[in-house]
Amino acid sequence: MDSEVRRLQQKFSLLIDERMLGYHLGDSHPMNSNRLFPAMHLLRENFVNTEDFELVLPGKVDRQVLLKAHDEDYVKKFEELSEIGEGEAPEYGLGTSDCPIFRGVSEASELIVGSTTSLAESMYQKDYGFAFILMGGLHHARSNRASGFCYYNDINVAIKALQSKKPDIKILYLDTDLHHGDGTQFDFFNDPNILTVSFHESGEYLFPGTGFPNEVGENEGEGFSVNMPLMPYTWDEMYLQRFREIVPVMFESFRPDFVIWQAGVDGHKDDPLGHLQLTSGLYRTIAKEVRQLAESTMDAPRVLSLGGGGYNPNSVARSWANVVSGLSGHRLPDKASADWVELCSARGIEVTPELHESPSQPSEEYLYDVIAGNERYEFDFRFNIGRYFSV
Ligand SMILES: [Zn+2]
Repeated sequence: MDSEVRRLQQKFSLLIDERMLGYHLGDSHPMNSNRLFPAMHLLRENFVNTEDFELVLPGKVDRQVLLKAHDEDYVKKFEELSEIGEGEAPEYGLGTSDCPIFRGVSEASELIVGSTTSLAESMYQKDYGFAFILMGGLHHARSNRASGFCYYNDINVAIKALQSKKPDIKILYLDTDLHHGDGTQFDFFNDPNILTVSFHESGEYLFPGTGFPNEVGENEGEGFSVNMPLMPYTWDEMYLQRFREIVPVMFESFRPDFVIWQAGVDGHKDDPLGHLQLTSGLYRTIAKEVRQLAESTMDAPRVLSLGGGGYNPNSVARSWANVVSGLSGHRLPDKASADWVELCSARGIEVTPELHESPSQPSEEYLYDVIAGNERYEFDFRFNIGRYFSV
């Protein structure tokens, strides 16, 4: 069936459940509910109740599927601490400043896993579908360890759920978060059916310190991990150039059955955690290109996008709105409503109504370092990945 006809038959799915605000790791922790609140309302204002969109609800987590991605002793310890509401287990990465323990943290994490997994499963039943989940994409959690604000890895659980429906399903995992998608890459490092492709600020400068081009996968999975590190201060145009060199080749040569895209927006120039200089317009452009690639290379185009990181409430809202706009083809107005600005302000969050911004420009101060550093990464990338893909 023609993809335009299918598009008209199926709506873009949005999962922006209010309960996600409970994934609040502390008032002074970057992962707090203020990062979600403006975005949730901005997405409601612009997309919900328009005919191309449907709101979906999180599903329940199937324990058997959760245990395919996480070790039972880790899950038990996590639940035990969550019930007590305090404590630590350093061997599992629990109770650290990045991954604190509070009462209900395991339920808050399960809500995210249930969201990503249930939506992935329902999209798998169909032959066409595009979707966005506000709070998915906890890509640092490992099978036996919490890390980087992530306790359960909803992506990994969703992959296991899809694999239990079709063992040889080919999944392209694309990660454009500021940080390397280490938890998903390493937990599927031996699996040739899961191609992980991550663009991120280089591990030489930022957590988690991995994601270099020579991490190509192991054993059967060799050649199925792809990493493009980027220098601090990389701007829109340079990012897009790398993206266009790599992502189309991955779609065309791997021919995925399903795409999971961790669309973290902490690479935005106003984000407090990193040094990339991206803008919301870049996110809209890559979202549009992901959709076009899915429609032109997949027999059944299905892309599940996840919010991922992003810690400046104002830039997060604008950036995710642009991701949804690009992926759905639905235009965003120039400005958000005065009601939205007021609603955020009443909660103590200052936001600006402009939804579009000019592309970022190279910073003269760092220009030479950015160009030289990115050329070095690019050389390394071609040397390592050129053996498996024609990049
Ligand atoms: Zn991140």
